[in-house]
Amino acid sequence: MTESLESESRKLLGRLRDTMAENAAGQARLDKITHLTADSMGTEVCSIYLFRDDETLELCATQGLNAAAVHQTRMKLGEGLVGRVARTGKIVNTADAPSERGFRYMPETGEEVFSSFLGVPIQRLGEKLGVLIVQSRTARQFTADEVYALEVVAMVLAEMAELGAFVGEGAALTARHTRPALLRGSTGQEGTAEGHVWLHEPRVVVTNPVADDPHRELERLHQAVEELRVSVDELLADTSDTEQMQVLEAYRMFANSKGWLRRMEEDISRGLSAEAAVEKEQSAARARMSQVADAYLRERLQDLDDLSNRLLRILTGQGKETGAAMPDDPILVARNIGPGELLEYGRKLRGVILEEGSVGSHAAIVARALAIPLVVNVERITVDALNGDHVMVDGDQGVVHLRPDESVVAAFRDKIAMQAQAQERYASIRHTPCVTDCGKTISLLMNAGLMADLPSLEGSGAEGVGLFRTELQFLIRNQMPKRTELVTLYKRVLDAAQDKRVVFRTLDIGSDKVLPYMKPQEEPNPALGWRAIRVGLDKPGVLRMQLQALLRAAAGKSLSVMFPFIAQYEEFTQARLEMDKAVAREERLGHELPTNIEIGAMLETPSLAFASKRFFEEVQFLSIGGNDLKQFFFAADRENERVRRRYDTLNVSFLTFLEGIVARCRESGTRLSFCGEDAGRPIEAMCLAAIGIDTLSMRPASIGPVKHLLMRTNIDEVKAVIDRARDAGDQSVRPAIMEYLRDRAV
Ligand code: PEP
Ligand code: MG
Repeated sequence: MTESLESESRKLLGRLRDTMAENAAGQARLDKITHLTADSMGTEVCSIYLFRDDETLELCATQGLNAAAVHQTRMKLGEGLVGRVARTGKIVNTADAPSERGFRYMPETGEEVFSSFLGVPIQRLGEKLGVLIVQSRTARQFTADEVYALEVVAMVLAEMAELGAFVGEGAALTARHTRPALLRGSTGQEGTAEGHVWLHEPRVVVTNPVADDPHRELERLHQAVEELRVSVDELLADTSDTEQMQVLEAYRMFANSKGWLRRMEEDISRGLSAEAAVEKEQSAARARMSQVADAYLRERLQDLDDLSNRLLRILTGQGKETGAAMPDDPILVARNIGPGELLEYGRKLRGVILEEGSVGSHAAIVARALAIPLVVNVERITVDALNGDHVMVDGDQGVVHLRPDESVVAAFRDKIAMQAQAQERYASIRHTPCVTDCGKTISLLMNAGLMADLPSLEGSGAEGVGLFRTELQFLIRNQMPKRTELVTLYKRVLDAAQDKRVVFRTLDIGSDKVLPYMKPQEEPNPALGWRAIRVGLDKPGVLRMQLQALLRAAAGKSLSVMFPFIAQYEEFTQARLEMDKAVAREERLGHELPTNIEIGAMLETPSLAFASKRFFEEVQFLSIGGNDLKQFFFAADRENERVRRRYDTLNVSFLTFLEGIVARCRESGTRLSFCGEDAGRPIEAMCLAAIGIDTLSMRPASIGPVKHLLMRTNIDEVKAVIDRARDAGDQSVRPAIMEYLRDRAV
């Protein structure tokens, strides 16, 4: 690139900045920019197309085409060469536009006389804003330098648009981030909420995209990159976590990458400020990110994105603290969030929206404990949403309404009101025992795992905790908790429960629950792999520590412990032996013991249903882990969206299998409960009660709806419906049950 081209480019950018500083309307600014750009690039035409909605581009300003076409000429995304640039985010550079694939002739513009065409996307951090075009009569390809120059102009335009420079009349010139948007994701936690956006990572605002003194900008860039390198090295020296290390290594690689630095240096010599140069590279990386399918490459581009953010924060001095006050009704918006960070926000959040995340992620576990509606996998939310935007989260449907219009607001508020009414109904029966219409008492307990769950013990009317997932406390930490910490924690749980029963399940890790500080196991099929009690028995250190902590926390009280994922009798006897040893050790040390210890097992593999009679007689209680049991019964992965809903819990095979377990427990006098997700679904819960499972443990929020239905149902009749449907050869009893409920108007 020659000196003269560089200085030409800087001159143009300087002029663009002046138009920004002038007190002019958005349209006047756009007009001037097309004029300046055509002049500087020596082309007859320069045009700016902006999006008027997600699918349509509109000619908003032109130098050289028919002025009458401005705001009249429109095209769909992908339509014509302009639409192609917008859709693909890639440059189109051709000497002979009319013979180019997809060319579309727009007679009103008078463009037929212009042969050469160069179009570049106007985009900012992965968000498409429009297209910038230059055209000329002479048939020629634009040089690489010219392409580059136009890209730099497009970058400055994107920054100016972000700063509101082009606001004017008409849909294409509406202020940015003001349009309503309906964004779809997946349900992380059910529930609905209305509130205002609170960005976990506030975006960095670049107010000075153009700079006069490239030497000074280069110096600023080099200093910032040096600071960045040092900070990454320091972080690396401080971490022992292998996953964290991999990410930091990737950071280091990018921070030392010559190509990355060189491109930013070139941007600066064209007249961009150091911040704008970083952001231009970041935008390019994001555009690539949306195109690569390979998960590994996407992750690396994500790392580059994070690194660019760090660099921008160094350059602008804008930390996480922007001085903005959190709204009273915050809905947290983040690309992703760790469980610890989410817990820190706690119950003050009304809802959470994540651009990434997954249904089984640790953040989702925490959101469930906090009973906060969560929608995950919401594309573009961190780009679209601004702090303070009005937003409605529909966790039931996995949908987000950003800046909703009035009709959406009204409909959504109706939905919230209906849910509130239902909650009131449930609250009124909170302390009423759950007795069915035919006089059977069903025990409703709650599932828990975090301290944040415990207030629900009172609020939900649960009779106790039927499943305390102890691994959650391990999952949300960065290091293995110490025994004393666990003692304190379990004590607090027992104190909060007062006299109510709490069933502690020992550590259930492996499969989808991977501790951040344990070496991940490379297993071909983790759900069938080294998990839960298998880990506990093979490497008993942590299990022993946990049992000791439980014994100490329950000193002088009653203690219930169950072992997860017992697949055969012997695993249970071995696990119980660990408990016996732990008790003996406590006695030796002279520590007070619990007044009573009951030991049970989770039935999560079909094999245990066929264990010997001795097992059923020895185990003090059994809890069916329906989530795992169902996945193994139907051989359908519970984490796999494609198959996880394929088989109905009310399938007669599964119900018949469960009835077999009920019969064996009755025969041996073993107490039986069910603690998978299905226990919290009213119809499923009703059928489980009907086949004889009289203790159900579920999410606290499900207790009200389940109790409400059970209290109005004659479960003997439901049992008869199940039997008839089975005899009739139905695959699932659900249709017959639904018909029964409809007829009875329950
Ligand atoms: C289950 O498998 O049903 C269960 C309750 O355990 P988890 O969901 O924690 O695997
Ligand atoms: Mg399980």
